[in-house]
Amino acid sequence: MNSAIQRLADALRTVPDFPKPGIQFIDITPILQNGQLFRLVINLMLERYMKKGLDAIVGIDARGFIFGGAVANQLGIAFIPIRKKGKLPWQTLDKSYELEYGSATISIHKDAIKRGQKVVVIDDLLATGGTAAAASELVKELGGDLLEMTFLVELEFLKGRDKLAGNNIHSIIQL
Ligand code: AMP
Repeated sequence: MNSAIQRLADALRTVPDFPKPGIQFIDITPILQNGQLFRLVINLMLERYMKKGLDAIVGIDARGFIFGGAVANQLGIAFIPIRKKGKLPWQTLDKSYELEYGSATISIHKDAIKRGQKVVVIDDLLATGGTAAAASELVKELGGDLLEMTFLVELEFLKGRDKLAGNNIHSIIQL
């Protein structure tokens, strides 16, 4: 890990047993609380996508909005939210997926992506990959050209990449 990325990794806070027993929650808010570190994350993502001719950044509810919104704004391109079901007001395309206990559904506006548009999906953390896999299906069903999915943190032991076969996956910090 280079020293800039090490600084980011050192700033992460692991909270045991949140939101339920047995989960080690990776809290990114210490990075957001430090303007230099927050900017560092955004700059790393910008460098990677600056010259790719992207049309839009797709951010996943909710922490994906923080990084995705900043990156889209700096690139001067569209930002598209994927939200938990029931939050988007217009016509949606929905995708359900299994969680450790139960299931979840995420949604995107049907007119959010035009066929052939080049997009990158951003979220804060890749865990089991269920959320990201559903997001990738939503983007592709709308005809989006999904260049890559990018995460600040990847929990490698959960093998989220296995659920995302066929997609390019990038993460800044691997734990
Ligand atoms: P998954 O679908 O299992 O890859 O979970 C990914 C989503 O859940 C991301 O939006 C993360 O923000 C959140 N998440 C899952 N596990 C954790 C964790 N251990 N720490 C922080 N966030 C998590």
